Amino acid sequence: MKVAIDGPAGSGKSTVAKLLAKELGFEYIDTGAMYRALAWKMLKHGYSYESKTDIEKVIQNTIFSFESPNLLMDNATIGDEIRTSEISLLASKIATISEIRAFLTREQRKLAENRDLVMEGRDIGTVVLPDADYKFYITASPEERAKRRYNQLKKMGIDADFNAILREISFRDKNDSSREIAPLKPAGDAIVIDTTEMPLNEVIKLILKKMKFQ
Ligand code: C5P
Repeated sequence: MKVAIDGPAGSGKSTVAKLLAKELGFEYIDTGAMYRALAWKMLKHGYSYESKTDIEKVIQNTIFSFESPNLLMDNATIGDEIRTSEISLLASKIATISEIRAFLTREQRKLAENRDLVMEGRDIGTVVLPDADYKFYITASPEERAKRRYNQLKKMGIDADFNAILREISFRDKNDSSREIAPLKPAGDAIVIDTTEMPLNEVIKLILKKMKFQ
């Protein structure tokens, strides 16, 4: 069984997808981490996303694999180095490149084979797994999403600027929903859940209820 969870940056979809996978006893795969890891690798090796040759090289020399519960790139676990603002923006930029999307979509479909799975991203219900058994689109207002991210960083002891976070979220929203290939949007058959005024446990309860009664 496959469950697709899509939504914009900071909507809480990762937390929802992880909890849901745990609740169902399914594997969980975060496809955003694949865009981020590839962006991180390109930055680290000095590959330019504006060079076709560099893009081809990185695609040919990258392998993704899954060893429950970890996602691996080039046989190494993907860690927190991909969670910086710099990598967020770079991931969103490389996500507009058709060769990169084709490569990662292919990898994501391979990873989804033969396992019960909650897969999370931007285009899972629309492109990667259009035949998923259940599709959810998790969203919240940009201000609420920025507030959540701000509080999360503050809790981690990181100095954060609310307006800068709001600007980054709005930039990524625009980039992700206006790109030509696989733009961020709910699949026609997705259940849209606005979590602006909904606590996490309510969101999970609602999803489980929808899965039971569909
Ligand atoms: O979900 P996360 O914020 O980690 O994703 C980072 C970036 O990767 C997104 O802003 C988006 O541009 C891209 N992405 C995508 N398609 C996916 C997952 C992520 O384009 N399925």
